[in-house]
Amino acid sequence: LIQLYVPLNVLGFVYRQLRQALTDMETMFALAAVQPDVADRPDAPALAVAGGEIRFQAVDFGYDPRRPILKGLDFTAPAGATVAIVGPSGAGKSTISRLMFRFFDPDGGAILIDGQDLRAVTQASLRDAVGMVPQDPVLFNDTLGYNIAYGRTDATTDEIMAAIERAALGPLVASLPDGLDSRVGERGLKLSGGEKQRVAIARALLKDPPILIFDEATSALDTRTEALIRDGLATAGRGRTMLVIAHRLSTVVDADLIVVLDDGRVVEQGRHEALVAAGGLYARLWARQSAEPQTPPEPTPPEPAP
Ligand code: ADP
Ligand code: MG
Repeated sequence: LIQLYVPLNVLGFVYRQLRQALTDMETMFALAAVQPDVADRPDAPALAVAGGEIRFQAVDFGYDPRRPILKGLDFTAPAGATVAIVGPSGAGKSTISRLMFRFFDPDGGAILIDGQDLRAVTQASLRDAVGMVPQDPVLFNDTLGYNIAYGRTDATTDEIMAAIERAALGPLVASLPDGLDSRVGERGLKLSGGEKQRVAIARALLKDPPILIFDEATSALDTRTEALIRDGLATAGRGRTMLVIAHRLSTVVDADLIVVLDDGRVVEQGRHEALVAAGGLYARLWARQSAEPQTPPEPTPPEPAP
């Protein structure tokens, strides 16, 4: 009986380990929202970025095929342009960034970078070419320096410091007794939402990708933090194509193109002044935000319609 018990106990242990491993994998897939069927084609070439033009061509997508989220979504972000994506909550804005990173493939239509279908190139080359500043960045339980240099382990201290300055993190780092060696994350220093986004901006700047996606935090930021992030963005957009998923219209007034999304479709696109004059959804969103007392002064007041 004892002899039988031991192996069973070991088996039970192995079984539990296996279960745990599977659970961890499931959690990992859920966290990254990775569909197991997103895989490289055999002999897929690397993405060759020329100018970094992004084209969504009649893209249909739903997390559940019975519930479409993007419905024939069509827009082009010209090479080197800063394009703002705006629209009501639930319109599908963050979904666009997940598709750009190929966490999912479209159900219909295609997404192209410089004419190359994302499904035709390796995922590794795609993720090298695209930098992402998520809506709510999660920091590793490690030092601030590690969190910034993550993905560029060969970065020199000078390069890291330059990225910190450009992301307007200099004053924060200078105020920390341990500087870049300060521990952050769940078990370390608690950074505010705005600070975490600026850490993610610094990380993206250090990676220096030809395409950058910035998913603006929805949480309220104080005017100063908002201005710092806006400045960081303006710097980040130089010399690359940038998609900014914007919740604050003060971020978008200077965009080269504003794409207005509603219910998974583009309902309007153009520059700020033209969209305000058009009196559509964008003008209504803008009017609502301008009326909010906590919004900072408008950088460029809308021109009166003729
Ligand atoms: P936005 O960023 O414009 O607020 P999202 O792109 O995040 O909108 O979401 C669009 C729609 O897709 C929402 O209705 C949301 O509930 C749904 N959605 C988002 N992520 C998932 C997911 N992982 N699984 C199922 N539905 C999702
Ligand atoms: Mg979103």
